[in-house]
Amino acid sequence: MASSSSVNLEDLDSIDLMNELLRRMKCSTKPDKRLILIGPPGSGKGTQSPIIKDEYCLCHLATGDMLRAAVAAKTPLGVKAKEAMENGQLVSDDLVVGIIDEALKKPSCQKGFILDGFPRTVVQAQKLDEMLQHRAVKVDKVLNFAIDDSILEERITGRWIHPTSGRTYHTKYAPPKVPGVDDVTGEPLIQRKDDTAAVLKSRLEAFHIQTEPVIDYYSKKGIVANLHAEKPPKEVTTEVEKVLSS
Ligand code: ADP
Ligand code: AMP
Repeated sequence: MASSSSVNLEDLDSIDLMNELLRRMKCSTKPDKRLILIGPPGSGKGTQSPIIKDEYCLCHLATGDMLRAAVAAKTPLGVKAKEAMENGQLVSDDLVVGIIDEALKKPSCQKGFILDGFPRTVVQAQKLDEMLQHRAVKVDKVLNFAIDDSILEERITGRWIHPTSGRTYHTKYAPPKVPGVDDVTGEPLIQRKDDTAAVLKSRLEAFHIQTEPVIDYYSKKGIVANLHAEKPPKEVTTEVEKVLSS
């Protein structure tokens, strides 16, 4: 939402204003939470994130979404990231650390954050620790979306996304009301360029070699909660709720 300096509150719809007020009242009673979602591509991080975000009034920072927006806008960052992303490799630590450091300053991250797809290397995890130390806060929980690789090809090749909102659909498991169309805006859905069986192989390799050690990094700190990410979405949500309320 734009700042009050550029918007006359009298011009806003009363229902929208009331809803925003109610949302803020609800949020003021929620504890701060700083969460990391780790799991291979297709494990359900992007599906669960909006639910957690709304429940705890957190910001949702998905480095993949941010990088795709930069590639689409052909920014200098996007130009640097494009090739690695298309090949299913990780982009350099410095690029993603810079994006997260900047994004954490957003007012929407005041009550905490969900990091989705970051950190993906131990170096990124160490840099995140430094960033949070400067802000005198720390990660509360790491949700590990544990799932067998064999399930992921069907999830990835059936995925459709609404690029501006990041909303995710699946032809079989979460179909939109009208095929190819976003339920909320009516805009067209797209398939990601890297959501192919061939690129998935490289992405999984990157996950096992570079990202799995990040789970060990946080296990040593005693903050990892393992989820059964192969279960249906609602059951995964129930597991997440249990972990976050304990
Ligand atoms: P990630 O963000 O971890 O890459 P997504 O949340 O985008 O994964 O999920 C990948 C695909 O699988 C999407 O099309 C989504 O609709 C679908 N999906 C997500 N969670 C589940 C689940 N628990 N069971 C079946 N399909 C799921
Ligand atoms: P995702 O949307 O999380 O599947 O990410 C898509 C692609 O963006 C990945 O395959 C990487 O090329 C890149 N990417 C996203 N997050 C990171 C990260 N934390 N570190 C390095 N590369 C990343």
